[in-house]
Amino acid sequence: MPVPDVDAFRAEVRGWLAATLVGDFAPLAGSGGPGREHEFLAERMAWERRLGADRWIGLGWPEPDGGRGLPWRHRVIFSEEYARAGGPARIGHIGEQLVGPMLLMFGTAEQRARFLPGILAGTQLWCQGYSEPGAGSDLAAVATRARLDGDEWHLDGQKVWTSLAQHADWCFVLARTEPAAQRHRGLACLLVPMRQPGIEIRPIVQLTGTSEFNEVFFDDARAAAADIVGAPGDGWRVAMGTLGVERGVSTFGQQLGFQREFEAVLATARATGAIGDPVLRARLAQAWAGLQVMRYTAMATLGRAAGDVPGTEANISKLLWARWHQRLGELAVDVAGAAAILTGPGYELGNAQRLFLFTRADTIYGGSNEIQRTVIAERGLGLPR
Ligand SMILES: Cc1cc2nc3c(=O)[nH]c(=O)nc-3n(C[C@H](O)[C@H](O)[C@H](O)COP(=O)(O)OP(=O)(O)OC[C@H]3O[C@@H](n4cnc5c(N)ncnc54)[C@H](O)[C@@H]3O)c2cc1C
Repeated sequence: MPVPDVDAFRAEVRGWLAATLVGDFAPLAGSGGPGREHEFLAERMAWERRLGADRWIGLGWPEPDGGRGLPWRHRVIFSEEYARAGGPARIGHIGEQLVGPMLLMFGTAEQRARFLPGILAGTQLWCQGYSEPGAGSDLAAVATRARLDGDEWHLDGQKVWTSLAQHADWCFVLARTEPAAQRHRGLACLLVPMRQPGIEIRPIVQLTGTSEFNEVFFDDARAAAADIVGAPGDGWRVAMGTLGVERGVSTFGQQLGFQREFEAVLATARATGAIGDPVLRARLAQAWAGLQVMRYTAMATLGRAAGDVPGTEANISKLLWARWHQRLGELAVDVAGAAAILTGPGYELGNAQRLFLFTRADTIYGGSNEIQRTVIAERGLGLPR
């Protein structure tokens, strides 16, 4: 298919969103996402299927694999228009942004043919099984074991902080296949069906009062022998390659979401009179300046790299937005004043409270700030370990 002109493509995306985010889908606008994953679950799953049916998933994936083969500019446009229209947070983002790229990079033709269509159609939801109680920042300490017996892998162990596991059909699990091997060696990335007797999922109640992530226990859980991505023992390379996939294009949509949150904080500051307080006013100005810095940094990086954001620049961007967003959460409750101390009946949180509480996690997930700094120092600046 020829690549559409960027203006025509923008008009197409805008038109589709205007025509589709209506009726039963209208209440989904602005719903879901970090701290709000519990909102409109069934409807957001239906929305995912609608996106899939109209071919808005896998825009950049190769056409032979069912994608639309579109360049990064078009993906940025989609991301921007989606955020501008208030498109709901994607419940299928782990499949589209992690599993799909992983299979495109490391999967066999058979695996791509089996798993990509479900992600593209928005009918198959995934979760990511990397972290364990003893292996977070130090992921190479993964202790979940996988043993091949005939035509099946048998898994025993525990994962933790597994986002959306309670809704997922499949999990990509980093497990140790060679118990004697040390650290980064002897690992494998396995595709494990979630609905089976050997898997127990226990939701974890978070500060926000909701449960987005879970503990996942494997007690002789099974995966087909063929459902290993890459060679046995090569799981570290697959796991790291998957995390390193460029996510630069989604940054623009994320930033429009941030912009909207900032505007809500500003509106509250006006309503409560907090805007007259010189300290809060200066913090609002700083937040606005931070937004501009993030936007220009993202544009410069993407422009230079033509869509493929190199490793350490992605680390810098994560460090920048995580702390900015956390400060916005702090500002949100400060401008709301005393009202921010009270919750509604049954721990019902307002937007400012939810923003404040959930953004505590921003500097942890996807690699904590300390780990980002280490990566920037060692790989980006070449400093000694
Ligand atoms: C909202 C949320 C969603 C998540 N979703 C998923 C998911 O879907 N799947 C998944 O697998 N995981 C998920 N995680 C887990 C996440 O990847 C880990 O929390 C993260 O990697 C940190 O690991 P940890 O929690 O074990 O903390 P630890 O690694 O124990 O770190 C604790 C503290 O020590 C610091 N620290 C650790 N090592 C070093 C070091 N070498 N140098 C300096 N400081 C260090 C850290 O920065 C941190 O401040 C999620 C986490 C959150 C908060």
